[in-house]
Amino acid sequence: MGHEQVTARVLLRRDREPRVLSGHLWIFEGEIDKVDGSPDVGDLVDLVSPLGRFLGRGYFNPKSLIRVRLLTHRDEPVDDRFWERRLRAAIALRERVVEGTTAYRVVFGEGDLVPGLVVDRYGDVLVAQMLTAGIDRRKELLIDLLAGLTGARAIYLRNDARSRLREGLPLYRQFARGDAATRIEIAESGAAFFVDIAGGQKTGWFCDQRENRTALAPFARGARVLDVFSYSGAFGIHAAIHGATSVLGLDASQDAVALAQQHAAMNGAADRCAYRAVNAFDELKALQQKGERFDLIILDPPAFARTKQAVPDALAGYKEINLRAIRLLEPDGVLASCSCSWHVDERMLWAAILDAAQDARRDLRLIEFRSQARDHPMLAAMPETRYLKCFVLQACS
Ligand code: SAH
Repeated sequence: MGHEQVTARVLLRRDREPRVLSGHLWIFEGEIDKVDGSPDVGDLVDLVSPLGRFLGRGYFNPKSLIRVRLLTHRDEPVDDRFWERRLRAAIALRERVVEGTTAYRVVFGEGDLVPGLVVDRYGDVLVAQMLTAGIDRRKELLIDLLAGLTGARAIYLRNDARSRLREGLPLYRQFARGDAATRIEIAESGAAFFVDIAGGQKTGWFCDQRENRTALAPFARGARVLDVFSYSGAFGIHAAIHGATSVLGLDASQDAVALAQQHAAMNGAADRCAYRAVNAFDELKALQQKGERFDLIILDPPAFARTKQAVPDALAGYKEINLRAIRLLEPDGVLASCSCSWHVDERMLWAAILDAAQDARRDLRLIEFRSQARDHPMLAAMPETRYLKCFVLQACS
């Protein structure tokens, strides 16, 4: 691809300058005054102030509401070496902060100043998601660089995220380099799991919760554990390894439950772990009616709010599951309450939890507030990159 030409100048509306100057990378349709030139999908453009001052360089997509995603705030060439520098920096960070796992996120899009590219590593296989047209257009170069820099044996593209449709991109999944089984064994913090890179959710594994799983170890010994929204069982199996006496996992997906059962067996915990393919809302209610109690409950729901409009309903959902979970807690029991919707920020989730505690008439103490693992770095100026919340709470006795 070599040295690419900048094909247009995008003039920002005056009132939008502060947001860009603060370091945000997204320029929305309505923030643009005019476009000098007729850039194609994915072309490089310069973002300039109304007075013509250079603000940054990024790629353009006339089909997306996010018209420009900035790649740099500097007036520098966006060439092969630029992309290589970006990827090297991402990899170097992981070499410092990732430990005890063969599954981690190598590139976290905007958080690594590579908007639109997500890459997870499972052993010697990479699974990439090209989420924007600007990245999709450069995929051959990016795949070559990733292969060279990581030494991965195979690279699989999980380009089936629905958000690609908004970028005018097709949905597909396939190997781009090499070939491997699509079921890969990983080792995370002393436990073994399979990741189904073709059929699993997202890229097959939730690396973002890795550090939270081990953070709960102190509360697992001797505990009856309820792992709600358990997917393939990671939270509960880690708890079992750290001394939980029983684990009950709930997930709506039959495939996830089947895999979780297999994971329990692989880790010598089959006798202590049980899984049910159920709707968590219904099952939490049923457990309460049966008078069940737990010492450690994990709530790790899917994003209830994918848009701003969905926030009120999402908050009602967060309140409901938290209320039901709080009612199931033993005295001194611990609740890890998570949310991965960035539209619901930590204050909003906290308010929903407090509301639930009040309805349940229980006093809670906050032991720790956590977020996503360090292989998902957050770009300081972009709240969108800071999406995972995890409150670790204890029911006062
Ligand atoms: N805790 C998991 C990740 C959970 S992802 C881990 O650490 O790996 C969210 C999960 O919620 C998905 O597996 C999805 O199948 C499940 N899910 C979505 N809606 C549900 C519902 N109403 N009841 C139960 N599970 C649900």
